[in-house]
This record gives sequence, structure tokens and C-alpha cells, in this order.
Amino acid sequence: MSTHDVYCLCDECMAAKADKDKANSSVKVGDVVMFVDEGRYSKWFWGKVAKVVAVNAGFCQVRWLQKVQYHDLYPTVSNFNVDRFEVLR
Ligand SMILES: [Zn+2]
Repeated sequence: MSTHDVYCLCDECMAAKADKDKANSSVKVGDVVMFVDEGRYSKWFWGKVAKVVAVNAGFCQVRWLQKVQYHDLYPTVSNFNVDRFEVLR
């Protein structure tokens, strides 16, 4: 019954495409970003700077450019929603 595809122009698909475009245009691979989300991860990551290594469906994978502690781990790579970062330009 569903005929949604890449050419579908229904409201739902257009909204999804707009969200994806917005997310993908705000953060790109190679960007240097700072974690600015004030939620539960801020204690560990707020203000930390990283380089984007992948962006997919509103999430980005980053490689930290400085030492980051998360509980008793020291992650070098993390995945977060792009909304949690501000691009430094
Ligand atoms: Zn559709």
C-alpha cells in the first residue's frame, strides 16, 4: 500500500527530507565541532572539541582532539546527534 520512495512528495516524506538536509548541511565530515549540549552528557563532554569523521541520518561520529573522560573510559571516538555540536569555523 505504501508507495513512499525517493521521489515521494507527501508531507511526511518532504519533512523527513528537509530534516535530513538540515542535519547534513549543518555538520560535515572534516568539520571541527564543539560539544555544547547541556544534557546528561555535558558533565563529560561539554566544551570538548572534536573532528567529524562521519555523518549519517542526523548522527555524527567524531574523533576527539583532546582528552575526554567518560566514567572510567577515555574514548577517542564518539557518536552523538549532530544537534549536540556547534561547528567551529
Ligand atoms: Zn511519502
